[in-house]
Amino acid sequence: MAQQSPINLYGLHREALEAFVEQLGGRAYRARQVMRWVYHQGVTDFAAMTDLAKSFRTQMAELTCFSLPEVVTRAESADGTIKWVVRVANGNCVETVLIPDRGRNTLCVSSQVGCMLDCSFCATGKQGFNGNLSAAEIVGQVYLANAELRGKDQSVTNVVMMGMGEPLLNFDAVLAATDIMMDDLAFGISKRRVTVSTAGHVPGIYALAQATDVSLAVSLHAPNDALRDVLVPINRKYPIATLLEACEHYLAGLGEKRSLTIEYTLLKGVNDHIEHAEQLARLLRPLRCKINLIPFNPFAASGYEKPDEARVRRFQTYLMNAGYATMLRTTRGDDINAACGQLVGNVTDRTKRQGRYLARVKAEEVA
Ligand code: SAH
Repeated sequence: MAQQSPINLYGLHREALEAFVEQLGGRAYRARQVMRWVYHQGVTDFAAMTDLAKSFRTQMAELTCFSLPEVVTRAESADGTIKWVVRVANGNCVETVLIPDRGRNTLCVSSQVGCMLDCSFCATGKQGFNGNLSAAEIVGQVYLANAELRGKDQSVTNVVMMGMGEPLLNFDAVLAATDIMMDDLAFGISKRRVTVSTAGHVPGIYALAQATDVSLAVSLHAPNDALRDVLVPINRKYPIATLLEACEHYLAGLGEKRSLTIEYTLLKGVNDHIEHAEQLARLLRPLRCKINLIPFNPFAASGYEKPDEARVRRFQTYLMNAGYATMLRTTRGDDINAACGQLVGNVTDRTKRQGRYLARVKAEEVA
């Protein structure tokens, strides 16, 4: 009989692990005991899980494994930001970024190998696409960062699904992984501090509302469809009005006290005019949201530039005066290419996009 490959337990959220244990004839609470060992004690050797029956431990050891993505490189920025390149299935690599900031440790996690969406100003899109990460590969990124922080007696306090990929196009794995992040028996991170970020996949937002109440960030980047169609091509399928309707729906499920985050990357001369700020303020009026402005982070042959600081401030001030909590996301880790939109990993591209992009980079180098 062909041997079944072991199940990677880092990918099973509580309910799935309970079902697995029950299928083996065990009681559901055994699953919860296993989770405590793994995530609270850092013990993955079943032999050491002494409060579990020996036969159950043997069974689990045979059928399951604890497999983490392999760290290929680890780079530390002058500002303390750490970027890992980790190997996932099929030899592909994705990137994970840890941003320490006065006791707060935010981890930026990847959800896919590359990205299908091809937003015009994002380096990840230029790498093309290879596939989805498994839930275990997503959770593994948090595990690795926590292992690093444990030495400093700290842990990951915030997770943002803002690394490579569009999380809502890898729905099931992202949902399982965020469940594990928020579960008290695992990472125990508050739902306010686990954020799924989307370029605007509208059916995914409705499905998410049905399934969970993680925090949601929406990458808007333009206050009108004509411009957004160019910057964020998924807008052609799900235009702004449809997207904002979905946002309202999601917000309704979060309760009065929580709000949405709107992300807006400022591209010099493209979407950073004061008229854009005016339009944006009008557009978002009905929505309970705060705005995150991200000055563009450059990469080779992007075709875009970062606006100067005065322009960025002017945009921010306009929105603040219009009543929006508006944060300026300070650039972190750009010396190691770890800033927003700079994550590239190592993608065996299944589209033609990477080849076309590399040709453009080469042409610019020659010119
Ligand atoms: N696909 C999801 C998750 C990626 S989040 C999403 O779009 O929300 C990464 C964030 O950084 C997004 O808001 C993205 O639009 C933004 N971004 C991409 N490229 C950037 C760049 N070069 N400079 C600044 N921000 C960028």
